[in-house]
Amino acid sequence: MAERYDVIIVGLGPAGAAAAMELCRAGAKVLVLNRPPARDKPCGGCLSLRGLRALDFLEPPAWVSAHAVSRLWIGLPGRAPVEYVSASPGAYFVERGRLDAFLAQRAAEAGAVVISQKARSVRAVPGGFEVTGPDQTWSGDWLLGAGGAACPVGRALGLGQTSWVFAALVEERPMPAGHAPFLENAALLEVGAASCGYAWAFGRGAVLNLGIAGLTQRDQGGSGGLHRRYGKFLARLGLPPGATPRGAAIPCPDRRRPRLVKGRAAVIGDAGALSDPVLGEGIAQALVSGRMAGAAIKAGDLGLYQRRMEDTLLRDHYHARILGRVIDLAPGLFHALTRHRPGGVELGFNWLRGELRPGDMWLALARGLAGRPPRLDPVRCPYYISPQVRMFHEG
Ligand SMILES: Cc1cc2nc3c(=O)[nH]c(=O)nc-3n(C[C@H](O)[C@H](O)[C@H](O)COP(=O)(O)OP(=O)(O)OC[C@H]3O[C@@H](n4cnc5c(N)ncnc54)[C@H](O)[C@@H]3O)c2cc1C
Repeated sequence: MAERYDVIIVGLGPAGAAAAMELCRAGAKVLVLNRPPARDKPCGGCLSLRGLRALDFLEPPAWVSAHAVSRLWIGLPGRAPVEYVSASPGAYFVERGRLDAFLAQRAAEAGAVVISQKARSVRAVPGGFEVTGPDQTWSGDWLLGAGGAACPVGRALGLGQTSWVFAALVEERPMPAGHAPFLENAALLEVGAASCGYAWAFGRGAVLNLGIAGLTQRDQGGSGGLHRRYGKFLARLGLPPGATPRGAAIPCPDRRRPRLVKGRAAVIGDAGALSDPVLGEGIAQALVSGRMAGAAIKAGDLGLYQRRMEDTLLRDHYHARILGRVIDLAPGLFHALTRHRPGGVELGFNWLRGELRPGDMWLALARGLAGRPPRLDPVRCPYYISPQVRMFHEG
């Protein structure tokens, strides 16, 4: 007979780990199945300040915030990058493998049973779900799909479907000495480098993380000549081609209302296509969605998770999607604005710090054009901040 758990979570990235911790702390019997990773996840390793705050409940170690980013270069092919330095950091560069290992360790310490096996199939059975691995089957009352872009839960139950993905390439190399003065603990975002996307160079101390991402329609295939565009980006930076960059997809919500829940099953993080549609930022969103789904299971109703996501993250993504496409349509104009109206760049920092929601961006932009400061609130996005998850039961 299959071993039985209260909750089975497929995948132990930030989403699965956050959900596991939320549930274990409430005394649930949680099983996490995680496909053993062959290598570290391809990632830019940029954790926004609101993402760091979403980690507060774990009291993250000092290394997570060691590489604070206040300095940003905005580039455009053929133009000199514009430098902007904010008064306080908007994000932190982290080593992704180390972050994931830390989260996985905390989930296990909280009491989750973690098995390093791939979930091959999932199916609904009377009273719950069965998840089958290479040589064993487990059953649970609740099921969370946290297996990232190719999660079997989403596929089997038709959840988290989207036609929009960022196709991305990424690599890391030692920081070249000549680039260190500009890029050490600084970010370069080059708009217009990819069709509907951007290229980046993130200086995590002595490591340079380089990549490119472009939004594509999943069913149309192709990645918009990403390798060629990436090669050109490197040439503009004066960098030789390095090791072959690794490719990966970041799903984000398209125009349809996403379905995240079916009965006692839900998808979280990338499995729910919950990354931000402007930058493809997904670590913070995975943490938040994982905790919210965990809190909903504790409350006995996953419908709360769907509704809460619609009121928070998905509403923000609606505005972010429009904003992102405006930038894609006119990257040259965006670049010129950052040069002439640096306050607009600060709005991006406000956003990453969780002081401004994307829906407030329109008013802030209008105020900026009229020479007035935006209306800010240090906790404008309270759902990123850990203790607020508890309020969820009340809301
Ligand atoms: C190139 C690139 C750069 C990025 N840069 C950034 C960035 O700078 N900042 C940022 O915030 N976000 C970034 N992202 C997005 C971010 O990596 C994701 O949004 C985030 O990892 C989502 O977390 P998750 O827990 O949902 O999924 P994942 O982190 O993908 O974790 C899923 C886990 O499930 C496991 N799994 C998969 N299938 C199965 C299965 N069948 N059975 C069992 N286990 C399974 C996987 O091994 C993995 O451990 C980037 C993504 C890419 C591709």
